[in-house]
Amino acid sequence: MNTGEHNLLGLPRTDLESFFSGLGEKPFRARQIMRWMYRRSVLDLAAMTDLSVALRASLAEHVQLTLPPVQSRNESADGTVKWLIDVGHGQVIETVFIPEQNRGTLCVSSQVGCAMDCPFCATGRQGFNRNLSAAEIIGQVLVAIRDLGGTGEASPVSNVVFMGMGEPLANFRETVRACDLLTDDLGFGLSRRRVTVSTSGLVPQIRKLAEHSNVALAISLHAPDDTLRDELVPINRRYPIAELLTACWDYARATNSRQITFEYIMLDGVNDQLAHARKLAELLRDKPAKVNLIPFNPVAGTPYGRSPQAVVDAFRAVLIEHGIVTITRRPRGDDIDAACG
Ligand code: SAH
Ligand code: SF4
Repeated sequence: MNTGEHNLLGLPRTDLESFFSGLGEKPFRARQIMRWMYRRSVLDLAAMTDLSVALRASLAEHVQLTLPPVQSRNESADGTVKWLIDVGHGQVIETVFIPEQNRGTLCVSSQVGCAMDCPFCATGRQGFNRNLSAAEIIGQVLVAIRDLGGTGEASPVSNVVFMGMGEPLANFRETVRACDLLTDDLGFGLSRRRVTVSTSGLVPQIRKLAEHSNVALAISLHAPDDTLRDELVPINRRYPIAELLTACWDYARATNSRQITFEYIMLDGVNDQLAHARKLAELLRDKPAKVNLIPFNPVAGTPYGRSPQAVVDAFRAVLIEHGIVTITRRPRGDDIDAACG
């Protein structure tokens, strides 16, 4: 796929306006073409009938509107769909659609691989290859919407979460560009509460995000004390829990967010004891926080296993006793190996 300057996909609105000005066209052409690309999911220039024939011909010479090719598509018995998308040079990323009763969540990747090295994570095991461009991030959304038979206006995708491969805040610029297009009225028009950036806890970037965006924030906490978190989420050695949580509360205040989501993978016998739950409750009580308990998807070559359901239920009960909203995520797409992370 061409992700260079000639791919109009993923360009911020202002850059697109400058592009049209450069062609001697009015800036409102940017709005027209955005409407075609994102609201109507149309990438064929010939079909963009409110652009003059001459402009369409000139665009066809100068630009591309290309999506990365899909290498494979798998659909789970529960309706979850996983696409493997080819981003060139033998590199493949994962995008997953999770249909639920009242929403459809798309889990997108932000990098090929990841440098954060969390020992339970398949992407972390693979190491870091490269950042994805905004075109490649937004491209995943378009691939999914088109494949599922919708358009941006009548979209099966109601929520987008950056919980696929990669650490989105380590790819700051392209992540923010993608978030802007997801929430732009001329882009996908999603409410900011329906776009979630999930991070392992890059504190300076969380602070910077508050200056550039106000999307929902999720933190992969996974442990209630620094000793355990140093092991499970190694970036914690640089940005320990107290610093991370302060940045979270500041983010919630700066962006006027109702709450921050804390993801907590339940690892059998590692972080799933009642003492862990009580410590976690101490950290989060009376704060703008909710907890997602995540069933672990076993990864070959790691020593971790999934906590039994009774253990998860007991852990959740402690948090709820302390007044913390806690959701247990159901395992989805197990049969196609499609869970996030
Ligand atoms: N790098 C970011 C976003 C991608 S990971 C982050 O870590 O937040 C998205 C979520 O999937 C994280 O909470 C991550 O910890 C979780 N995850 C990773 N591997 C997993 C696995 N094997 N089973 C369940 N969740 C996993
Ligand atoms: Fe990277 Fe997130 Fe996996 Fe950690 S859990 S290695 S930060 S993708």
